[in-house]
Amino acid sequence: MLRTITFKLRLTNQDREALSKTMRAYAEAFSISAKWGYDNQSWNRVDNHNATYKLTRQSIPDLPSSLVQGARDCACEALKAVKCETLPERKPLSAMRYNQRVITVNLIHGLASIASTNGRIKATFFVPSHYRDYLSWTIKSSTISYDRRNKTFYLHVSLEYNDPEKVANLEVLGIDRGIVNIAVCSDNTFYNSKQIKNRRARYAYLRKELQSKGTKSAKRKLKRMSGEERRFVTDVNHCISKQIVNSEYTVFALEDLSKIRVQKRRGKEFDRKLNNWSFYQLEQFLGYKAEALGKHVLLVDARYTSQKCSNCGHTYKGNREGSAFRCRKCGFELHADLNASRNIAQAGISCLSRLPSQPAKCDTIST
Ligand SMILES: [Zn+2]
Repeated sequence: MLRTITFKLRLTNQDREALSKTMRAYAEAFSISAKWGYDNQSWNRVDNHNATYKLTRQSIPDLPSSLVQGARDCACEALKAVKCETLPERKPLSAMRYNQRVITVNLIHGLASIASTNGRIKATFFVPSHYRDYLSWTIKSSTISYDRRNKTFYLHVSLEYNDPEKVANLEVLGIDRGIVNIAVCSDNTFYNSKQIKNRRARYAYLRKELQSKGTKSAKRKLKRMSGEERRFVTDVNHCISKQIVNSEYTVFALEDLSKIRVQKRRGKEFDRKLNNWSFYQLEQFLGYKAEALGKHVLLVDARYTSQKCSNCGHTYKGNREGSAFRCRKCGFELHADLNASRNIAQAGISCLSRLPSQPAKCDTIST
């Protein structure tokens, strides 16, 4: 399996300058190769190399030869994509692909040594603790990109790992995601510690205070706080997903939230956004971690999971009142989230046949 993880690079101003210059030089090398390919109606790399390499090295002597070759390969791919019908163009600060000869990435210490037109430059980056899982993976290639909006350079590292053997026994766990309880599982596990609850309440309170002030400094604080809160939620989601996938269960059933309007629950726009993002993130983390263990994640139809009785199947809106579920037909009573998680587990069991043909999950992760 392949994955790409992204880091923000920390660079001195001088090195930022060097990296932008390298990007521009890379774009220039790309243009030379693209033009030759277009003029000669060919996307053959060897021919392109023979025709352009010397010229490119002469006109851009500072660009390391591996990057000249990288730019040429990019140009040939672009020519192939348009079948040489148009001249491929490249923005001066587009992402550059680096092979292992021109970049050294150390994921343990968060260090990168990157070839540039000014020689090797050193960059550092923060490696979140949950990325430790990737230390045993093999780095295949790296890309450096630049985001104009926040004036930041990013390092994207593509990693590969042997696919684990898929588990044969399918034991389904239903997981209900929510706001009060982050996750409630059909095996009666509730994920919501007091500490998480308190911290979320504190953020909600501070946010309200700052929003009502509306001053410039309050807005700044609000922005900083929302970053802090997101990181906190990310950590919580990592912890919970790790515990869940390491349980004895092998198939994790979740509601497919993409098909319904996620939140009817009351709340400020900001809360709603954060919650939707958090639900989706938990799903992603479960997916990655399950895949690495040869386990599965199944998305099931989310309709009626909260109104349906997990005991007799009777579906009625009035069965649920807040966190209490009581079936009007058979009298079955249970915590509403737990009842929902059992329905999700049942839905998961009934669509187990979908598993072998599951579409591949998106393979890009960001923090
Ligand atoms: Zn019932």
